[in-house]
Amino acid sequence: MAAKYIFVTGGVTSSLGKGIISASLAKLLQARGFSVTIQKFDPYINIDPGTLNPYEHGECYVTEDGAETDLDLGHYERFLNVATSQANNVTTGRIYNHVITQERQGAYLGKTVQVIPHITDEIKRRMLLLGESGEFDIIITEIGGCVGDIESLPFVEAVRQLRWELGVNETCVIHLTLVPYLKAAGELKTKPTQHSVRDLSEAGVQPDILVCRSEYPIPADLRKKIALFCNVKINSVIESLDADTIYDVPLLMRKEKLDERVIGKLKLPHRADPNLDSWKDFLGRLKNPTAEVNIALVGKYVELPDAYKSIIEAFVHAGSANECKVNIKWFQSETINEENVASLLQDKHGVLVAPGFGERGFKGKLEAIKYVRENNIPFLGICLGMQCAAVEFARNVLKLDNAASTEMDPETPHPIIDMMADQKQITQMGGTMRLGAYICELKKGSKAYSIYGKSRISERHRHRYEFNNKYLTDFENAGMMATGINPDTGLVEVIELNNHPWFVAAQYHPELKSTVLNPHPLFVKFVKAAINYTKN
Ligand code: GLN
Repeated sequence: MAAKYIFVTGGVTSSLGKGIISASLAKLLQARGFSVTIQKFDPYINIDPGTLNPYEHGECYVTEDGAETDLDLGHYERFLNVATSQANNVTTGRIYNHVITQERQGAYLGKTVQVIPHITDEIKRRMLLLGESGEFDIIITEIGGCVGDIESLPFVEAVRQLRWELGVNETCVIHLTLVPYLKAAGELKTKPTQHSVRDLSEAGVQPDILVCRSEYPIPADLRKKIALFCNVKINSVIESLDADTIYDVPLLMRKEKLDERVIGKLKLPHRADPNLDSWKDFLGRLKNPTAEVNIALVGKYVELPDAYKSIIEAFVHAGSANECKVNIKWFQSETINEENVASLLQDKHGVLVAPGFGERGFKGKLEAIKYVRENNIPFLGICLGMQCAAVEFARNVLKLDNAASTEMDPETPHPIIDMMADQKQITQMGGTMRLGAYICELKKGSKAYSIYGKSRISERHRHRYEFNNKYLTDFENAGMMATGINPDTGLVEVIELNNHPWFVAAQYHPELKSTVLNPHPLFVKFVKAAINYTKN
């Protein structure tokens, strides 16, 4: 069967949750036996989100093949349990970059290069790319931004052309809108939905299905009104209520029969009713915890939880696996110092020091780590968090004065964390870190080995600096063991403390591989250690 294409657009406002709706629909279709993937087209000029400040756009999600992508790809992977790749995230910048490079190579044979057809042709080529692999029955394409924005226009135009080229039953357009409740009037309002559908129709795209975000149930007469004014069937007006957890959304969409409408529109064969047993088991455990822990998350971007999206979700997965409610307590590392660290952390059952970049808040992270190391509180360090754990140990246990990472102090006498030689040559910012999946060998008998239950693992990376192996013997003699090593390069990937109940830190990002069906072992065991700590 040739792949079918579903496009998800949004109107009225951003942040309506197109990513979650796309992932939920994909989950339902996958649970019926279809092979599905999701891709995100973002209308900004950055080639990828790798250079964006997390405050701008939340976390940068990294795929197996080392693409720095939008955080929605994290949702796709967490819901579907299938890896995405570079091809799953395309920006306006990447499209233009390709077209302009082609133009410089003379590929357009003297023609004037224009938005239509050249930019839209390139958008269409990329929209169809994953479908041509033969691997997928259904490709869901989420268009970032809002319909009606100037920058979204070429994408909507590409969708219009594709619908026409591929034929009526080959594509389906789902438009996400908002049905706001006006308190003063005591009413739900459909006008914003009507306007945004009109915008989309003016661009030549008539949506097949409307998913209406609403704080209150949308009554039948209002659904009828929306259907009438927006030219969709009444059963294709889907209500999407605010949910307790994003993981409820697939079940809510099932109740609204979103999957059935899509199958009907695309004339897909009825394979099976969706089997959501393991998903429901996950939700059951999540909603009926038998334990509760408070975990401190120490980081630099804590004002915007989206900056740590995958970490938060990995805790949700690990919480469910342990039937434990995990409360994340946020700490801006800049505010932690020697005086207040005990009062801030003494009642926590675990501390995670987060990934990050730059000097700000570095000292506070070291204080937090010193405290948990000396007080036997479970600790998980991720990327910069692992580098901080190494620096703290060097300063306070090995007594190496002013030991540091050269990222924070290029002149340090003890560069415990340093840039690798090949990184020093690099001047370009985007896509030049150590990115994507690398193999790591865990030492038998180590905590890391017992956590994973095997010695060979593969985890994703995003960093420039590395543990400096010159110091390895001193570290190990003092009880900080390197228990995960990259077998090809000898780089240290995991460190752990011998004389501590649970002190593990990784140079890689375990949070990027945690999914609903495969909660990450490091998070699962860290939460378990926190539960044990509550029993002390
Ligand atoms: N800034 C550190 C580095 O580049 C850590 C990066 C991270 O935490 N992702 O090596």
